[in-house]
Amino acid sequence: MRIRGDYHMHSRYSGDSNNDLEAIVQRAIEIGLEEIAITDHGPSHNGYGIKRIEYGVLRREIDHLNEKYPQIKVLLGLEANILGVDGRIDLDEEMRGMNDWVNAGYHFGSNLKMDYKIHLDNIFSKFSKKIHNRALKTNTEAMISAMRNNKINMITHPGAKGPIDIAAVAKAAAETGTMLEINNSHGHLTTDEIVIAMQFPVKFVLNSDAHKIEDIGKVEDSISRVIEAGLDPKRVYNIIEE
Ligand SMILES: [Zn+2]
Ligand SMILES: [Zn+2]
Repeated sequence: MRIRGDYHMHSRYSGDSNNDLEAIVQRAIEIGLEEIAITDHGPSHNGYGIKRIEYGVLRREIDHLNEKYPQIKVLLGLEANILGVDGRIDLDEEMRGMNDWVNAGYHFGSNLKMDYKIHLDNIFSKFSKKIHNRALKTNTEAMISAMRNNKINMITHPGAKGPIDIAAVAKAAAETGTMLEINNSHGHLTTDEIVIAMQFPVKFVLNSDAHKIEDIGKVEDSISRVIEAGLDPKRVYNIIEE
């Protein structure tokens, strides 16, 4: 099993990666990928997010690379932040008009404004059952509203940064045509979470979430979880069976 495309990776437009765009494309070609999405952190992520004004610059850089390297398709994506229970994400209409692919996920560093309590609950959820349950309810509600209110290709690392009701998320993902990620770097979905999610007619996608060039296309750990869970590879968007 291998993947034909990697739909989650960061470039130097994210505060936590130094990856040069052309180096990303060259590496992706070298390892035989046919398609990649550049998915930098959404602009409301403090310190790590792409500057709103740079999104158009990134679009032009990607257009140029697509012309220079016709052997691969490079998509402009975003790893938008889920910002609150109302399902807001930090992708505005102008950015949406420019891009080809939308990931959304929950991150501690995002600017939640009125919903900052979500961060506190997720940080302290390990220490108290009551806080854990409250965080689980809020995170699940936020993720489901994000899928219902926005066209999103994929939810990144579901459950990695705070507890969620995976069955409820998978059901909403199936209803809204949103894929769930089996993230190689973050360990989520876990094997157990895949087993629960696959009871719903949802599609999955395996990604590296590379912040370094050498990690692009690396999904060995995700593939092990697919096998352990007994998930039919046909339900995974980017798997090629050989
Ligand atoms: Zn992430
Ligand atoms: Zn990421």
